[in-house]
Amino acid sequence: MARPLLPVPLLVLVLLAACSAAGEQTGPAHVDAAPPSKIAVVGAGIGGTSTAHFLRQHFGPEVQVDVFEKAEVGGRLATVTVNHNDYESGGSIIHSLNLHMQEFVKQLGLKYRRSVAGKTAVFNGEEMILEETDWYLLDLFRLWWRYGISFIRLQMWVEEIMEKFMRIYKYQAHGYAFSSVEELLDSLGGSGFINMTRRPLSDSLLELGVSQRFIDEVIGPIMRVNYGQNVSIPAFVGAVSLAGVQNNLWAVEGGNKLVCSGLLKLANANLLQAHVTSISPVLSGDALQYQLSFNTESGSGSDLYDIVVLATPLQDSVESGINLEGFTPPFDQLPGSYHRTVATVVHGYLNTSFFGFPDPRLFPFANVLTTDTPNLFFNSVASICPVNISTGFRRKQPQEAGIYKVFSLQSLDKARLKTLFRSYYSVQVTEWQAYPRYGSSQGLPSVELHTNLYYLNGIEWAGSAMEMSSVAAKNIALLAYHRWNRQTDMVDQKDLMHRIKTEL
Ligand SMILES: Cc1cc2nc3c(=O)[nH]c(=O)nc-3n(C[C@H](O)[C@H](O)[C@H](O)COP(=O)(O)OP(=O)(O)OC[C@H]3O[C@@H](n4cnc5c(N)ncnc54)[C@H](O)[C@@H]3O)c2cc1C
Repeated sequence: MARPLLPVPLLVLVLLAACSAAGEQTGPAHVDAAPPSKIAVVGAGIGGTSTAHFLRQHFGPEVQVDVFEKAEVGGRLATVTVNHNDYESGGSIIHSLNLHMQEFVKQLGLKYRRSVAGKTAVFNGEEMILEETDWYLLDLFRLWWRYGISFIRLQMWVEEIMEKFMRIYKYQAHGYAFSSVEELLDSLGGSGFINMTRRPLSDSLLELGVSQRFIDEVIGPIMRVNYGQNVSIPAFVGAVSLAGVQNNLWAVEGGNKLVCSGLLKLANANLLQAHVTSISPVLSGDALQYQLSFNTESGSGSDLYDIVVLATPLQDSVESGINLEGFTPPFDQLPGSYHRTVATVVHGYLNTSFFGFPDPRLFPFANVLTTDTPNLFFNSVASICPVNISTGFRRKQPQEAGIYKVFSLQSLDKARLKTLFRSYYSVQVTEWQAYPRYGSSQGLPSVELHTNLYYLNGIEWAGSAMEMSSVAAKNIALLAYHRWNRQTDMVDQKDLMHRIKTEL
């Protein structure tokens, strides 16, 4: 995600309240059922690995937790190597109020990556229409001059949504789970949150009194860099995206994917390098299990599990290649598709003339966002920092060869690369099925697919981010635990804020 564009203060009070909640533990449960003996998690991205970690916390040390991964641990958290340094090519930025991610980093003994300042500008295909300066007050004044109080309205809106969203940490710390994404959102922000998953962001902002010009020149570019889409994406994911440009962001020193490998170890989970091809229910007597069939480099195999969590998108476009067989009624193919975003990491000299700065020494920006302009072939270009930042590190000046990340819908051909770069040493391309292609009608997929078969990535249709997958992981671990132990009073409870207060 992009670095801060709007000057937004920290939600210190919310953070303090929620931090204490995140540290609390679920109280001892009354358990009658025999524990499960084997649980499978399919996918070792942040969703699957944090599920394994939370499952271990709730089900205890005896249960066998197997995590299947067909490619790399980390999934959409990945790096590319350029000139002996690694750079994030997928999910890169974490908000300071993402408490699960914070807690993982703490428990794993990882470090926060130092952020290196750099200015942002917005380009409309012909010129820079908004430029950040060294002067905070001047930036504020310019925003006010150009857009009136739109940015204050926006800031208050995002803060209100985040404050409500933060309730999840308290609910989860008290052990409450939700059987669907709708129930989860409803408990946090009532029908308002659910409506926000169906309504275009632009409509919500216009209703709020944010000007069309602000939407076109500021909100649009943020949606383009964060989700490769425009302001017609639903308001809820729009708010997630806007939280991602506040100025309290961080990343993991050494690469965000270290959290995934670390969580697998912490969970004492078995990593199986295998492609799961099918899952089917098997009933022997009263006992329901699931048969997982999979392919490894050395052949194919299958195994039985008591509980299965699918932690990878199931939409056709993502090609997880998992058949859910033998279920009654049979599963329909999930509607919707994933949006392609191409991340091109270039080692070279930025062509600052293209942005109206013939002399690169006078080009002061580290990040360039773009407006929704026909024929503009990229969403953003940013000078990026390696995942390991030494104390003496400084960002390269535009007159020097630097490392840049370009986000675009299509791969950049030679002509386009030559438009953006005067010359280059290397180009590395990662094509992502990055996040849902947000429309307004596909709805939110189920979490509970079958008695003990759960689906994590439905939450991405409300908002796709590392923390969203982690919240879904904690929810599924709690849900699986309560379902297994038939603790109905811990699932889909109403008026939780009041309940929690009276529990204290
Ligand atoms: C370019 C880009 C930029 C982003 N920027 C940010 C950001 O700045 N901040 C942020 O918070 N989020 C960001 N995101 C979103 C974030 O990366 C994702 O929401 C998150 O990583 C999803 O994690 P996941 O574990 O749910 O899914 P994934 O990471 O997709 O993990 C699923 C895993 O399942 C495996 N798998 C699939 N099918 C099978 C099978 N049949 N058998 C075995 N294994 C299988 C896959 O190989 C994969 O490793 C970005 C994403 C992209 C692509």
